[in-house]
Amino acid sequence: MPAEPSIVNAARVKDEFLDLVSISSLSKREGAIARRLQAILEDMGASVEVDGAGERVGGDTGNLLARFAGNKTGAPPFLLSAHMDTVGPAGAIRPVVEGDIIRTDRTSVLGGDDKAGIVAILEAIRVLRERGIPHGDVELVLSICEESGLRGAKHFDTGRLRSHRGLVLDVDGVCELITRAPAANHLSVTIHGLAAHAGICPEQGMSAIQIAAEAIAGMKLGRVDEETTANLGVIQGGLAGNIVPDCVVVRGETRSLTVEKLEAQTAHMRERFEGVVAGRSVRVGGRLHQARAEVEVRRQYEVLDVRDDAPIVRLVRAAAAALGRSCRIRATGGGSDANVWASRGLEIANLGCGMHEVHTVNEWIDIKDVVVTAELVLEAVRLNAA
Ligand SMILES: [Zn+2]
Repeated sequence: MPAEPSIVNAARVKDEFLDLVSISSLSKREGAIARRLQAILEDMGASVEVDGAGERVGGDTGNLLARFAGNKTGAPPFLLSAHMDTVGPAGAIRPVVEGDIIRTDRTSVLGGDDKAGIVAILEAIRVLRERGIPHGDVELVLSICEESGLRGAKHFDTGRLRSHRGLVLDVDGVCELITRAPAANHLSVTIHGLAAHAGICPEQGMSAIQIAAEAIAGMKLGRVDEETTANLGVIQGGLAGNIVPDCVVVRGETRSLTVEKLEAQTAHMRERFEGVVAGRSVRVGGRLHQARAEVEVRRQYEVLDVRDDAPIVRLVRAAAAALGRSCRIRATGGGSDANVWASRGLEIANLGCGMHEVHTVNEWIDIKDVVVTAELVLEAVRLNAA
């Protein structure tokens, strides 16, 4: 623990966290929290703009870009970023407070993912300004629809940013910095067999379900290697128990920290489906029917891969050291807006902000961890101007 008492206001952090998590903000329904945050940010002295991403995704607000003017000339601008939306269930959130521990009544998620990040950023900026601590311009992007395919960030025009460097706050852990995160491909496979009466003439059909089963049974899935994962998460098809099914749709994904491994695993999954259908055909009434697989692959996001000696990593390490802490540098298997910012050429890493058991109704947070995160952000912004 730092020897000196924190200059971060823990009571204010707790109050603001409870305020923000109590506002439901499912993806595409971030309007209420965006208006609340815009009011808070303008009250803090920021200029705030809302972009047009909301219309693009069919939501009720766009991304927020807030700009705080620095008080030190010549200091480089710094980007801070978090997301406003949460996964469900989150129709009504009733936080349960036990000292510094905040959890839900187990009927909803808490939304500490990512409101812990938002609160840590707000508190850090507030203290910087209240105390007149020297800092450069701070740009803050609060995105929509992170939880639904990073779509808010993807529709954000990063040409509007002056910062070249910054932090996303959107991951578990405290005093931990994510510098590597996977690229991901989404796969959608439609297998076409041939329908037939299952009792009278099954030999005149080709079961798309059986073809899919054979392809999947020979497929590497789950943890493929220490950097690569793969999953088939949806399978839909068939009409009735007495019809040989002519169509099945299978959807899934693969991710890897290394793009070559991502491409290799994607090719493996594609080849399993294409290889099995190639060997399946049936002749009915003089006509040859060949089974087919349509495989669609869509890149969901690019890798995050920041060198250990990159300035942003050294900055966060130095900030942690100034607080008497050490910062763990690690990889994650999840994507975040940091992947999008990195693909646009920003030097960005993802700082842990204390969230626990996210995307479940057991989600909880310890306010002390959000306070530490705010201290780290404050120190990083200060050192960036030093
Ligand atoms: Zn998140």
